[in-house]
Amino acid sequence: MSYNVDTLRAEFPGLAGEAHGKPLVYLDSAATTQKHISVIERMDRFLRYEYGTVHRGMYARSVGSTAMYELAREQVARFFNAPSESNIVFTMGCTDAINLVAWSWGRAHLSAGDRILITGMEHHSNIVPWQLVCEFTGAELIHCPLLDDGSLDLAAFDELLDERVKLVSVIHVANSLGTINPVVDLARKAHAVGARILVDGAQSSPHMPIDVQALDCDFFTCSAHKLYGPTGIGALYGKADALQSMPPWRGGGEMIERVTLEKSTYAEPPARFEAGTPPIVEAIGFGQACAWLQEIGMDAIQAHERELFPIAEQILADIPGLHRIGTAPERSTLCSFVMDGGHASDIAAILDMEGVAVRAGHHCAQPVMDRFGIPATARISLGCYTNVADLERAGAALRKAADMLQ
Ligand code: PLP
Repeated sequence: MSYNVDTLRAEFPGLAGEAHGKPLVYLDSAATTQKHISVIERMDRFLRYEYGTVHRGMYARSVGSTAMYELAREQVARFFNAPSESNIVFTMGCTDAINLVAWSWGRAHLSAGDRILITGMEHHSNIVPWQLVCEFTGAELIHCPLLDDGSLDLAAFDELLDERVKLVSVIHVANSLGTINPVVDLARKAHAVGARILVDGAQSSPHMPIDVQALDCDFFTCSAHKLYGPTGIGALYGKADALQSMPPWRGGGEMIERVTLEKSTYAEPPARFEAGTPPIVEAIGFGQACAWLQEIGMDAIQAHERELFPIAEQILADIPGLHRIGTAPERSTLCSFVMDGGHASDIAAILDMEGVAVRAGHHCAQPVMDRFGIPATARISLGCYTNVADLERAGAALRKAADMLQ
């Protein structure tokens, strides 16, 4: 299928909106993406005509819903090339998936003297759960520092990684910097000292083909809402032996094998980790998003965004007083920046008046802001539907911001 961005844009009703009387330019896909029409229609059809509970009812409607829910798991597994759908646990999102690993795997496998190695560019969702679990287990959280261009200090990584490290938990693409981390190498190194590796794929999965078997990671996490799907759902991929070794972290219906008033035994993964009635509608929407992305092709989306990205970078380079934060050689299609004369929120507010939606703030990465000695950045991030006109509108708005602030 050939990639036609204009045809694609027409399939995203959310892009047709206005802001302050101007046509919307949406450049905040790293925060959350607009929704593809096939996702909206699939969820609408399920809610209207097919809705029922899953894994509980003996009647046709529930059996049908269960089949659709489990099909969604297969679609997600296929999207990430997981060996089997049983490697996929539905979670509430990427944050929830990391918390699952922290509280289930972490509590079972960590104790005093053990270390968890993260990086200085993690999203808070890959810092705070480990801090909490370290308080609980007595393990120690250590981090690998960053170089000035926002890439990982790989020499420091090698020094920090020894047999005391039981888990490396690393962001694949940094949401605040754009850095792409060499996760295949990091996985190889982690395994060489007997550690597991978790890859936070929230910002990589929407922009490049992901093959969890080729990455050889033990865990991979993502959020559907960044993949053109709904909020409230995401996935944890886990290797079978890793998931098998993990006790439940939430108790309730459907995660059990047998319950007595004294004691319970638990279901096999992934059901062991899905207590309670799951977000059925959202899972089906997530499955559809994955199926649609596979139809378009992640290679094609990556090629489109890679073609646009140098244009975005040149537009930013031409704005007086604008300074990029995060210029690692391997970087994804988002740009963080600051501007002389104003706070990041001033930039975002001026752009908003021009109809251009960008994120400003610490991007849930306060340690990154501390590392670069700034309170916040503005960030433009591309999606599969971004076109040159979007970038030109952003450029014009940024020139206006530069004039006003400097
Ligand atoms: N990890 C990264 C790199 C992110 O960018 C985000 C969200 O921006 C998350 C984790 C958390 O995702 P969610 O809020 O959907 O759980």
